[in-house]
Amino acid sequence: VLTTSERMRGIRQRDTAPEVTVRRLLHHLGYRFRVCAKTLPGRPDIANQRGRWAVFVHGCFWHGHIGCRLYTVPKTNSAFWKDKIVANRERDRRKESQLRNLGYRVAIVWQCELSEPEVLLRRLLRVLPKGGEG
Ligand SMILES: [Zn+2]
Repeated sequence: VLTTSERMRGIRQRDTAPEVTVRRLLHHLGYRFRVCAKTLPGRPDIANQRGRWAVFVHGCFWHGHIGCRLYTVPKTNSAFWKDKIVANRERDRRKESQLRNLGYRVAIVWQCELSEPEVLLRRLLRVLPKGGEG
């Protein structure tokens, strides 16, 4: 029988698993960061203010990852879902450009990319500043 805290831990892990994975990967590469950069525009999931870089971790469905098998608009209420996801995408773009205007390098990590961590790592190293431990 699970204790309440074990159950809670399980729930939290499921909720944040992609973010936790990305944090672990970045940490492994030597990047250091604040877990939640709430003071920055767009509230990126991971950021380093001194090194001026930020990462958003996006769920493929909610953020509308075009061409992704995880992003398929439900058949029922499809207009509703499309509008919602288009709005999310526009908001994401605004957040990104706000940060870029402040001189930040911004990386978007899609949930589906986590299945190939080595490919993702190579991409992050290209996008984020070298020696970005900051
Ligand atoms: Zn995807």
